[in-house]
Amino acid sequence: MQRSLIAGNWKMNGSKKNLSDLAEQLFNLKCDADVVIFPPSVYICDAVEAFSGASIAVGAQDVSENSRGAYTGEISSEMLIDVGCEYCIVGHSERRSLFGEDNHKIAGKFYQASKVGLTPILCLGETLNQREKDETLDVITAQLNAVVEYTGKFFPSDLVVAYEPVWAIGSGKSANTDQIQIVHKYIRCKLREKGLSAKILYGGSVTPENTKELLKESDIDGLLVGGASLDAKSFVQICKLA
Ligand code: PEP
Repeated sequence: MQRSLIAGNWKMNGSKKNLSDLAEQLFNLKCDADVVIFPPSVYICDAVEAFSGASIAVGAQDVSENSRGAYTGEISSEMLIDVGCEYCIVGHSERRSLFGEDNHKIAGKFYQASKVGLTPILCLGETLNQREKDETLDVITAQLNAVVEYTGKFFPSDLVVAYEPVWAIGSGKSANTDQIQIVHKYIRCKLREKGLSAKILYGGSVTPENTKELLKESDIDGLLVGGASLDAKSFVQICKLA
């Protein structure tokens, strides 16, 4: 059985103090899962240093779709590799809805990351409105296909996808395991048709209380944790349960 992956997305939260609290509790953690944290970019170097020698990876919450040049404010995949990042999140619903990132732009980011060996975690998910109109699987298909087609031969063998229904993010209301299993099985099947395989994470109001129930499902290979990753105690608990 493959190891689960537990990812903690801090979003635009946290501080050096949060990082040192987390490092203190997480550094010597013995758990059966791979763990990666995604602090805001200004703390990436501190996080890499704090976890140097530990089995905790560090990732970026976003990456540019360009490799270098006059793109003020952007950070390239090569730079992230250069400072010790192993992962980056691509296509988080907040990037899609608040920063106007469409499937094409997200595919460009995914491609740039994959090309240099940074593991992108591709976030997919439907809004409540789309779910109510029974469009969930169509939305997922369009989001997934855009990336697979654009990335072509640079598609990573260690692909990671995170299903994050938009209505479950930060709402305190996780999707139920039946809803998640349907989408995860569908993603796995679509990828298999293209000769690809992936770790498929679930994200959306994950807490220490629902971790065990989620991870016992056969198609949930890990968790993308937002709010609960900011509290060192909760995040460590989730990792221990994985
Ligand atoms: C997220 O931001 O990816 C997320 C899943 O957030 P939360 O766990 O707070 O719902």
